Amino acid sequence: MALKITEECINCDVCEPQCPNEAITMGPEHYVIDPAKCTECVGHFDEPQCVAICPVACIPKDEAHPEDPETLLQKFNRLQADAALVK
Ligand code: SF4
Ligand code: SF4
Repeated sequence: MALKITEECINCDVCEPQCPNEAITMGPEHYVIDPAKCTECVGHFDEPQCVAICPVACIPKDEAHPEDPETLLQKFNRLQADAALVK
């Protein structure tokens, strides 16, 4: 399941460079996560890097995008294949 950033976000900028999938960008009000790119860091790290570093704990699971670990791994593989095509 992708994660999401809530309105508690203080726009501290620290999570954006930590995301291995470039899923985090600045939105109209605060940072946002693209559910098509967030794998909960599956394929890269043992835990979500944005959650580990966020000082205000405003990154819960996005219940609108339920995905099991296998699906997240498939998303990771798809993103890697897309990145390879761009290179
Ligand atoms: Fe990026 Fe990982 Fe956070 Fe998802 S959980 S937004 S992939 S850092
Ligand atoms: Fe917002 Fe947390 Fe990211 Fe900082 S680390 S920009 S508070 S989501």
